[in-house]
Amino acid sequence: MSRTPGFSTRAIHVGSEPDPATGSVIPPIYQTSTYAQDGVGGLRTGLGVGYEYSRSGNPTRTAFESAFAAVETAGEEPTRALSFASGLAAEDAVVRTLTRPGDHVVLPGDAYGGTYRLFARVAEPWGVAFDTAPSSDVDAVRAAVQPGRTRFVWVETPTNPLLGITDIAAVAAVAHEAGALLVVDNTFATPYLQNPLELGADVVVHSTTKYVGGHSDVVGGALVVRAAGAAGAVTDPHTSEPLADRLAWHQNAMGAVSGPFDAWLTLRGLKTLAVRMERHSASAAQVAQFLVDHPAVSDVLYPGLPGHPGHDVAARQMRLPGGMVSFRLRRGRDAALKTCASTGVFTLAESLGGIESLIEHPGAMTHASVAGSPLEVPDDLVRLSVGLEDVDDLLADLDAALAAASA
Ligand SMILES: *Cc1c(COP(=O)(O)O)cnc(C)c1O
Repeated sequence: MSRTPGFSTRAIHVGSEPDPATGSVIPPIYQTSTYAQDGVGGLRTGLGVGYEYSRSGNPTRTAFESAFAAVETAGEEPTRALSFASGLAAEDAVVRTLTRPGDHVVLPGDAYGGTYRLFARVAEPWGVAFDTAPSSDVDAVRAAVQPGRTRFVWVETPTNPLLGITDIAAVAAVAHEAGALLVVDNTFATPYLQNPLELGADVVVHSTTKYVGGHSDVVGGALVVRAAGAAGAVTDPHTSEPLADRLAWHQNAMGAVSGPFDAWLTLRGLKTLAVRMERHSASAAQVAQFLVDHPAVSDVLYPGLPGHPGHDVAARQMRLPGGMVSFRLRRGRDAALKTCASTGVFTLAESLGGIESLIEHPGAMTHASVAGSPLEVPDDLVRLSVGLEDVDDLLADLDAALAAASA
């Protein structure tokens, strides 16, 4: 009797069959730009497909893309994953594949700062208009969509850094009613906690720099869509070709691919994603509860808390609430800055999703570029990426930093 392999079995084995030439259990880093041909056009197919040039295809990148497609699922339907040099390179491929001058998109009210910058400072000057709407408010999204002109609605859930939750299925319905696609940035949740394609999304975007790579040692991005020909697969609105094929074509035509070593590190991270996310989530839940109970803290933003406005939706569409926790300081901006400067185990740094715990002040760091825009974040906000250290050390570190900030 055959059974469908579970998440970790797929992450570890799909695309990682032992190397046919040597038996190497882990896919080699094919650090090469080009491939010998046996006569003109005679590509060697020892790995199943032929390779001619590493921008167009590289076996190490293929290994990661196969594994990632196997975990970012769309029910029974096959998916296609494409690996990029960064999350923003992946986002740029979505923008330039799906939009033309005169088109319109809807962005969330609190998008990742770099996403907002891409639309406001790069896409808009090229003629792609956008509006923002809080995507946790389905009616606001419906009001922002322009049927016939809006190419896609962009959603992040949970959001960065406010941990807002969007009902993916509800927003997918609103986008589709208006003839638009739904793009979900699934960086915070990862494919282990949430699979947006199963909830009606058309494109999933990842910064694999974060939890997927998971060790703060590589920058990367990925797109996942239903494979060409799969039930529910969509076409590119401008060419009517399967979206998976158009995105793959753009990946090569624009060239922002991940290199072999980066793809290899990202694949290595992916293999342990499930166990890491379990621990990140368990420790984050403890950190969130500790902060709720702390007198210096006025508000804790964590979807696992029963009082969080997105708690019920998160419980429905996510396996666990994840490893990110944000909180606000009763004594304002100075206390927030001082807390960030006073930790010892939490490192003061941008980024998230690695094995080590990080702390940052979004208003002055990751989200400084959205100051003065509708996406500005409160200045008493602190964001934590809860890592894999012993949770008692994390709680003691926060306790000491909050005491220092209150002194
Ligand atoms: C980091 C991040 C990105 C951008 O990814 P890079 O790999 O830094 O280019 C996009 N979305 C979210 C939610 C992120 O956290």
